[in-house]
Amino acid sequence: MDLDARIVTLRLAETFVIARESADTADVVQVELRHDGISGFGEAAPIERYGESAESALEFVGNAGELIGDDPWALEEIGARLATLPGEYAAKSAVDAALHDLCGRLAGEPVWRLLGLRRVGPPTSWTIWLGDPDDMARRAEKVRERFRRLKLKLGARDGLDVERVQAVRGVVDVPLQVDVNEYWTLDEALDNVPRLGALGVEYVEQPLPAGDQGGATLKAASPVPIYVDEDCHTLADLPRCAGRAHGINIKLAKSGGIREAVRMTHAARALGLGVMLGCMIESGLGIAAAAHIASLCDHVDLDGNLLIAEDPWPGVEFRDGVQLPSDAPGLGVRQAILNPR
Ligand SMILES: [Mg+2]
Repeated sequence: MDLDARIVTLRLAETFVIARESADTADVVQVELRHDGISGFGEAAPIERYGESAESALEFVGNAGELIGDDPWALEEIGARLATLPGEYAAKSAVDAALHDLCGRLAGEPVWRLLGLRRVGPPTSWTIWLGDPDDMARRAEKVRERFRRLKLKLGARDGLDVERVQAVRGVVDVPLQVDVNEYWTLDEALDNVPRLGALGVEYVEQPLPAGDQGGATLKAASPVPIYVDEDCHTLADLPRCAGRAHGINIKLAKSGGIREAVRMTHAARALGLGVMLGCMIESGLGIAAAAHIASLCDHVDLDGNLLIAEDPWPGVEFRDGVQLPSDAPGLGVRQAILNPR
């Protein structure tokens, strides 16, 4: 099999702002895997927080070509060979997605059927970026008819995080979730979490820094489920996460792809953990890979392609609040011809 990759810049419809950064564009790496005249595609959304970039992902794909072999169905063996190269989980997930796309096309089945899963998963949340309480409420109000749950980014360190949720709660009835992106101390978390519980917040994502000593204390004290994201990357992290959280946020860009993500969902169940499926800023190509396994999860946050100005890979259908994977073979997305700018 032949493997190619290129960097693509996705332009956001609006600037995103979270506790540690803000941006107007996101660079992803799109890969093409060719086998007997058929191509499979996948996308990497490298996460700077973990020392990955589009450039490092591109370099990984360049080195991965000789480890791919010629049998697209040898997913376990290919995964084991790629795992001998360090890090670069986003790039690994792009190759894994391209393999699943290719296998689906060869079999004439969508990936969700290839894996024996249901097509329809939970509705996706929509992300309300960090801003002033009034501003976040205004933005929530605009989308309350379109989305069945909202995820609020918190962690501004200005003492107003609970007010942000209050302001949004005042204008919308849909379930609310919050993501602190590691920006609270244990004391802040112990103080804020019960107040968020009183506002009906469904879960609090990554309130403490990854590895923070206070994790077990917070889990024991919290009336609201704590989910971890920055603390949870691959299967090996799950026993530790079970000591500090009630649930995990799986992202393909962290797990290294669909296969590891599926393993993680089952291990999470065995440990009594809830499962959320998240994403980065991604086109429909990246979101599709996650949408195909969304039915395994309790909570879904797959709004990445809805946040960009123009999706270069349509095919995931946003229907009644759900990011529905295609029933076309493979990932079921096709590259669009976009207007040149
Ligand atoms: Mg998060």
